[in-house]
Amino acid sequence: MDLTLSPNEQAFRDVLRSWLAENHPGEEPTGDEAGFEFRVEWQKKLHAAGYAGVSWPEEFGGRGATLVEQAIYGEEMARAKTPSTANVLGLVMGGPVVIAHGSEEQKQRYLEPILSAEEIWCQGFSEPESGSDLASLKTRAVKSDGGWSVTGQKVWTTLAHVSKWCMLVARTDQDAPKHKGLTYFLMDMEQDAVQVRPLHQITGEAEFNELFIEDAYIPDENVLGGVGNGWSVAITTLMHERAGLGAAAAASVKIALGQLIELASEHGMADDPIVRQEIASLLIEAEALRLNAWRGLTAIMKTGTPGPEGSLPKLQWSAVNQGLTELAVTIQGEAGLAKDSDWTYRFLRARANSVEGGTTEILKNIIAERVLGLPKLR
Ligand SMILES: Cc1cc2nc3c(=O)[nH]c(=O)nc-3n(C[C@H](O)[C@H](O)[C@H](O)COP(=O)(O)OP(=O)(O)OC[C@H]3O[C@@H](n4cnc5c(N)ncnc54)[C@H](O)[C@@H]3O)c2cc1C
Repeated sequence: MDLTLSPNEQAFRDVLRSWLAENHPGEEPTGDEAGFEFRVEWQKKLHAAGYAGVSWPEEFGGRGATLVEQAIYGEEMARAKTPSTANVLGLVMGGPVVIAHGSEEQKQRYLEPILSAEEIWCQGFSEPESGSDLASLKTRAVKSDGGWSVTGQKVWTTLAHVSKWCMLVARTDQDAPKHKGLTYFLMDMEQDAVQVRPLHQITGEAEFNELFIEDAYIPDENVLGGVGNGWSVAITTLMHERAGLGAAAAASVKIALGQLIELASEHGMADDPIVRQEIASLLIEAEALRLNAWRGLTAIMKTGTPGPEGSLPKLQWSAVNQGLTELAVTIQGEAGLAKDSDWTYRFLRARANSVEGGTTEILKNIIAERVLGLPKLR
């Protein structure tokens, strides 16, 4: 792939850079609720300027940008250290999956409120006994009049406490082979049959939740991609999740590495041979991550859909981010143990990187089997 930006891509970057210079929202306030409201306002501002759903087609309210422009967007946002958007799962996964598998009515109904952050989305895939082995999930949907009755439990559901819609995968055919008996639903979270309980992470935040679903109602028109086709719709969702991450992740670890070098100097450890060696190898890995992110983009541009190559940047990002935050805490010595230190927070949050969005072991299997063509494990 040619990594030089075309004149159009450079113009896209320059316009975005100057827009950000004038519209950066500043530091996100602390506290879960205040932080969330801040991100809602930020997303509304982005949407008004045409910067939400950057690569979504224009007919669905997006900017119709190319994937390279989408990657530039991710890099620029990371560079400017902007806050995250409020509806991150809707923008990265919900919208693209509705565009790929939804009916015309579904596109009309769901896409605009995702962009404007009027309706927040969450992803109800994982269950207490089904995470990596998603196809073994047990939540069941039984046909009722004009719709489906759903009962089961989900876990680690990010943003469920503020969500209107849940991308829910449930078993609709108990007798079919496990990948074939699944259906993908858009479940309204605003019903008593869905109870949301927060789960606190090691950072003290409650980003995600448990969902207890007892006879929830989902109308027929909220099936996405057809009854029994849930597995392939779920895979589309996961591919978008990983594909969306690469370029921005590469840019943000590069910035973090710059901060790490400053930290090492402040602590008089910039000359320490071991610290220098560790920083050098992190920088090399970060560069490999950046190049693989662009390689993944090239593959999407050729095939039209994100493929298994997206697993590689996700895997590399989690390793680099965990490595650099761990080194930062080590460099700080005792101060690295302080609960209110920014680096300590980042170190603790990074522990989830090798689990969220697919564990490192599972991604290695995908790369081995589906990218490198090695024989299947089983
Ligand atoms: C911060 C965060 C946010 C999340 N948000 C969401 C969300 O919004 N929605 C959602 O649905 N889920 C979410 N998850 C859940 C996440 O997708 C799962 O945790 C992940 O898929 C792993 O599933 P599990 O936790 O059940 O672990 P398990 O699948 O039980 O795995 C346990 C261990 O066994 C290993 N393992 C399992 N199978 C294999 C295998 N075949 N080969 C080799 N090793 C294997 C795993 O790598 C792991 O180390 C989130 C998780 C985190 C940490």
